Amino acid sequence: MLHVKDLKVAIDNQVILDGLNLEINRGEVHAIMGPNGVGKSTLAKVISAHPSYEVLSGSIHYKGKDLLELDVAERALEGIFLAFQTPVEIPGVNNIYFLKQAYNARRAKEGLEEISSLDFIKLVREKTQSLGIKADVFKRDLNVGFSGGEKKQNEMLQMSILEPELFLLDEIDSGLDVDALKSVAAGVNSLLNENRSVLLITHYERMLEYIKPDFVHVLNGGKIIKSGDISLAKEIEKSGYSMLEQRSAS
Ligand code: ADP
Ligand code: MG
Repeated sequence: MLHVKDLKVAIDNQVILDGLNLEINRGEVHAIMGPNGVGKSTLAKVISAHPSYEVLSGSIHYKGKDLLELDVAERALEGIFLAFQTPVEIPGVNNIYFLKQAYNARRAKEGLEEISSLDFIKLVREKTQSLGIKADVFKRDLNVGFSGGEKKQNEMLQMSILEPELFLLDEIDSGLDVDALKSVAAGVNSLLNENRSVLLITHYERMLEYIKPDFVHVLNGGKIIKSGDISLAKEIEKSGYSMLEQRSAS
């Protein structure tokens, strides 16, 4: 589904990713771990076409297509979704209206007609109910004044309505207490199936107890320096990243 090859990425002329390789098949959950500032968010943003990042070399293929040829809207319509580490507040843009526009863009691509406002409200109610979240807050402006937990719930609501195929989850645990984390993880899990894949970025092994990865990768020095299963995350939790660096250097 996703094939990242020898990727080199810079921001402000500073090289962040350098020779990164990653392959994700359908239905797989991949976790990316790594110390602060190594480029985990950079990877997620490059895959979703953030304009500030410059791809210097390498390639990203998604469902057989050259992803770097597609703009941000095309990538979203192809089923790529980025759940932000810190979702942006946009005053003046009504959340439901925003979601409806995105949903209708998806429908238009499939040759379907626009959903009516009434039916969309019904859909939102269904989705919020099945996710176990309260619908009222989501009628406000996009993320404006939402608590940390509500912002993450809103990302989840977007995912459940837009039904992406590749979920890029960038530290969705940040700013959440353990109950909120459990509920967000349960929401994500309820959306997953054998056709959907996840790139889950996290600092903490704790997150991986709720969203279980098939593979765990450690990102450092611009590339993935080690891959394994959940036991790698447990090792990191116990001994930190420094031990891993020493070992990969020796
Ligand atoms: P991570 O998510 O692993 O903590 P990031 O991908 O956010 O790391 O950041 C990687 C590096 O890129 C950091 O050194 C960060 O300071 C730098 N960086 C991120 N955004 C910008 C920017 N807009 N301008 C310059 N440097 C940036
Ligand atoms: Mg980050």
